[in-house]
Amino acid sequence: MEKARRITALYPEELKELLAETGQPAYRARQLFSWLHEKTATSYDEMTNLPRALREKLAETHPLTKAVVVKRLCSELDDTRKYLFELEDGNVIESVRMSYEHGISVCVSTQVGCRMGCRFCASTLGGLVRPLTADEMLAQVYRIRQDGGERVSHVVLMGSGEPLDNYEETLRFIRLLCAEEGQNLSQRNITLSTCGLVPEMRRLAEEGLSITLAVSLHAPSDEKRRRLMPVANRYSMEEILDACHLWFAETGRRVTFEYALIAGENDGEEDARALARFLADFPAHVNLIPVNTVKEREYKRSGVPAIVRFHKKLEKYGINDTIRREMGADIQGACGQLRNNYIQYGQEKVT
Ligand code: SAH
Repeated sequence: MEKARRITALYPEELKELLAETGQPAYRARQLFSWLHEKTATSYDEMTNLPRALREKLAETHPLTKAVVVKRLCSELDDTRKYLFELEDGNVIESVRMSYEHGISVCVSTQVGCRMGCRFCASTLGGLVRPLTADEMLAQVYRIRQDGGERVSHVVLMGSGEPLDNYEETLRFIRLLCAEEGQNLSQRNITLSTCGLVPEMRRLAEEGLSITLAVSLHAPSDEKRRRLMPVANRYSMEEILDACHLWFAETGRRVTFEYALIAGENDGEEDARALARFLADFPAHVNLIPVNTVKEREYKRSGVPAIVRFHKKLEKYGINDTIRREMGADIQGACGQLRNNYIQYGQEKVT
């Protein structure tokens, strides 16, 4: 039997049905939704405008999602904060809060671990443990919002895991996060990053969303991409670009392509030229990211001169790009490293 959804993962209509079963009027469901998603309550005790009997019953039948902050690291460089959460089953996940001129952005994990196997990434080292549920993704945003006492305006699905390998829960997360009666985030402020699961990308294009799609390309050709990303054995770059064309046709939104610059691997001028050729006829934006070194991997980040040369080449060919500013460099800000250290060495070693 399928495990029942946690109450925070229910859409407003589903919550209404649930309460109707216990004879509650529709406005109670609206009140409860607001407690869960607008005020981000962590216990039924807080929900003072609901009858005590109802609160007591729900606390028994529908316990709230547990996500406890077990570690919080604050960057002294740029106000980035990294959170490690412990879930009900003892698994730990990480999320990052970044502060920008345009607001507060949270980087959310979608799975415990990952099975995509990208060779430069720390999140995939131990494989996939389990997918996260929509309420566990929401809990990352809601707890960070509460901890900082500030509204979260942007969310990027760029933590551990492959969001399109956890399609249903990720979509539920996005829709609940943007619900008018909850946090009311603009879909435009949500970025979903994928390593390029083509059938799911095509399905996503038809969902009527106005989120930003980011595709982790990291290479200018299939041959080079297969060396870095096993998923490239399943889908070619042409197939990915086709899916991006469909995305643009359906949503009118340009696509961001992520490109981690790795010294001697994909950062040559020839690579930049090939990338520019590949993206020539598409409304693309390229994010250049100097690769973060992961101690279990041999890859080194490109030097500043190589990065600048790469950027200049793309510019010359008319490709829109930005060099991503590194954030939280002093707190293991990147890509699953904090969780790995926590699991390997225990709590005292991660500071
Ligand atoms: N699974 C999704 C989202 C998670 S990772 C995806 O593949 O897009 C978010 C981004 O960080 C991806 O572009 C990923 O390739 C990149 N990334 C992973 N490890 C990295 C590293 N060591 N240095 C730089 N970027 C990395």
